[in-house]
Amino acid sequence: MNLAPLQALVQSWGGDLKQVESDDPLWDHIAAAPFSSWLGVDHKRKVIYYTKEAQPGEVIHEAGHVFASSRTPNFSEEYDFFGWEFVVAVKVGLVDEWLETTGNYTIGGTDFVEFEDMTIDEQSDLLEERVQHARSLGLIQGDEPMSIR
Ligand SMILES: [Zn+2]
Repeated sequence: MNLAPLQALVQSWGGDLKQVESDDPLWDHIAAAPFSSWLGVDHKRKVIYYTKEAQPGEVIHEAGHVFASSRTPNFSEEYDFFGWEFVVAVKVGLVDEWLETTGNYTIGGTDFVEFEDMTIDEQSDLLEERVQHARSLGLIQGDEPMSIR
């Protein structure tokens, strides 16, 4: 996977992406992503750690926790930065990869619709709505994803 453009983007925001081995001792002291044993973030130092098993879309999601949320990962409102993730994916050339890992993203919270079960029209309406929402929070300016940290 080519994460170089994503890495350049997060470095421009004062952070970094680091590929590590799954048995690296650092896993003992970083927040591992829920549902995944190959991703983790150091929210304070703005570093995203990933192993070779990680999917690019998941790395983008973790970047959302670090750069598009002022709260630590366990307290972030992930749905607030869904549109931001999409805009980042477009910018770094990983939109297909992001859509692939977003398939089981649960939309709504009460209805529990999964993204991949929506029609293409519903998906594009949702993305447009989420991009607008992220703009209203200052996470996107024009078409550019921002770091708020
Ligand atoms: Zn998350």
